[in-house]
Amino acid sequence: MNAGISGHNLLGLDRQELERLVQSLGKAPYRGRQLYHALYQRRERDVAALTDLDRNFREALAAHYEITYPDLQGEFISKDGSARYLLRLQDNTAIETVYMPEGDRITLCLSSQAGCAVDCRFCFTALLGLKRNLSAAEILGQVLAVARAREIPPRSRLNLVFMGMGEPLLNLAQVMKSVRIFADPQGLGIPLRRITISTSGIIPGVRDLADDPRRPKLAISLNASNEEQRTELMPINRKYPLRELMRACRAYPLRARELLTFEYVLLDGFNDTDEDVVRVGELLRGMRAKVNLIPYNPGPGLLYRPSPLERVLAFQQLLTERNIPAYLRISRGQDIGAACGQLRLEGAGQIPTTASMRPVRLPSWR
Ligand code: SAH
Ligand code: SF4
Repeated sequence: MNAGISGHNLLGLDRQELERLVQSLGKAPYRGRQLYHALYQRRERDVAALTDLDRNFREALAAHYEITYPDLQGEFISKDGSARYLLRLQDNTAIETVYMPEGDRITLCLSSQAGCAVDCRFCFTALLGLKRNLSAAEILGQVLAVARAREIPPRSRLNLVFMGMGEPLLNLAQVMKSVRIFADPQGLGIPLRRITISTSGIIPGVRDLADDPRRPKLAISLNASNEEQRTELMPINRKYPLRELMRACRAYPLRARELLTFEYVLLDGFNDTDEDVVRVGELLRGMRAKVNLIPYNPGPGLLYRPSPLERVLAFQQLLTERNIPAYLRISRGQDIGAACGQLRLEGAGQIPTTASMRPVRLPSWR
């Protein structure tokens, strides 16, 4: 079914909620588990077609409930094989999801919010401001809608990264609700080690994740080597300073063989010097960590320039010499506005072009 049809959406409900729902309709809890299986493992989209339920119940259910995925409004295919999807939610809010195939692996880059309030100076999504948090249904719906569009069969090897629009740790409850359904073998069956949440450094969220035994992997957008530089790039550093963020990271309990990932967007002459390497080395000394270096994707309205490739390679080499594993994360889909930090609803007819598109509600740390 498509967005726009009224009725309660079953998508987003977890097993307990579905059990309670069927019980309220006079049915045994195992019917709820059947629904859960149909929604997430078989990826059924039509309540009336759930033939493992008896016909009366199916019809009663279909009278009030539906299975609604986000509406695919646009598909932009890159020459590197990745694709950007423009999705429209039931209230007409637009979001984006990116599909990235690599060998036999597929990675989906998910949005956690419509827009973002964090306001990093190098990110296009920041220019949209925050519209609202996404629900677990809308996060699950991104995977299900793109899997359907790309004909990805259930049980395929998928990686999920919360690196699309938004700050996942400012919407942690809904993000974690979706993660539990993604990771559940009875749900979508994507192991936690193949799911990564990326954060700009929301310290209370890092601590909440640390306390959750069923957490996915964590990546921290470091992007700077000292307080002053980081505050300039990421004003949220005033509220959650680097020193305290690093303390929370050092206290983060890692599983066997797990590493904490630090992302670092390289900006020419700003954060890519030899002194920066030394400071990053100090910050990460003794930690079980790796660094993902991200070439900066420039664009209109943003101030910085990308570091030249030789500088990127030198930065990588110098970190490695300091025993910090560093990898180059080449952004995919640059030609279609799908690369890191480029998500801004291009093609949705609402590209922000003026200062009036800045966040309406200014974040409290500014
Ligand atoms: N809000 C979260 C996740 C989404 S951003 C976070 O900030 O971590 C995902 C990654 O894209 C972050 O590491 C961010 O630093 C990076 N990024 C943002 N804008 C970019 C740009 N213009 N070029 C390259 N990477 C960018
Ligand atoms: Fe938000 Fe992440 Fe972009 Fe910063 S980099 S504005 S936190 S999406």
